[in-house]
Amino acid sequence: VIAAHGLFRSFGTTVALGGVDLNIQLGQSLAIMGPSGSGKSTLLHALAGIELPDAGRITLNLPGYNNVQVETLNDKARTKLRREAFGFVFQSGLLIPELTAIENVAMALMINGVQRAAAMDRAAQALAQLGLAGMEQRRIGQLSGGQQQRVAIARAKVTGAGVVFADEPTGALDSTTGTEVLDILLEATVGAGKSLVMVTHDRSVAERCDRIVTLRDGHIVTDSATAQRQTGSWS
Ligand code: ATP
Ligand code: MG
Repeated sequence: VIAAHGLFRSFGTTVALGGVDLNIQLGQSLAIMGPSGSGKSTLLHALAGIELPDAGRITLNLPGYNNVQVETLNDKARTKLRREAFGFVFQSGLLIPELTAIENVAMALMINGVQRAAAMDRAAQALAQLGLAGMEQRRIGQLSGGQQQRVAIARAKVTGAGVVFADEPTGALDSTTGTEVLDILLEATVGAGKSLVMVTHDRSVAERCDRIVTLRDGHIVTDSATAQRQTGSWS
């Protein structure tokens, strides 16, 4: 679905991405690992069209998006693309704390043109599927970390045609809650035929994905299938 070629990004004299090539297949789960500062978040943001690289090409192929060159799109077109085609589960939220759980999910649908009543129905359904029935009216701050991540997954589930991006989705959670969130995230993405691209520091979390890419100083240094999917190397 996403083919990235020669991604380069620098901040002043810091080279965050030093020419990365990466192909992500539909229905595949990919973990991005590597030391702090190795370029993981920068790569995720480039692949998701959030912040463009200085150089390189990102080609997207999804239903309704045939051979789209993401780096040629203007801000408005990229915003539309992210809303329609991608889902996001980020540590720092992207959830709106002033809104309730159901409003956070429904809003993502309403932005995409779904009427309020229908959006609230679908949001309630998604929250119930993620074990949050009865918590629809709570504000985000009244939910635990794991529950907040499930709201974010519910939102990624109702929108996002093809690819869900997650940056440290289990990072701030205890290991039991982290495992639960990860199960749900995999089910809502790969289980539904979508792709998952996830940054994680946790090797055991990464091992649950089909494939692990390791970054070092802005370069991919390893790229291999996990035991989860015993089909050898992707590269
Ligand atoms: P972490 O595991 O700590 O989240 P990371 O692998 O996600 O690290 P990035 O956030 O991609 O690392 O950053 C890669 C490099 O680019 C780092 O050296 C970082 O300091 C630098 N960098 C990232 N964003 C910016 C920015 N907006 N301005 C300046 N430098 C930046
Ligand atoms: Mg990061």
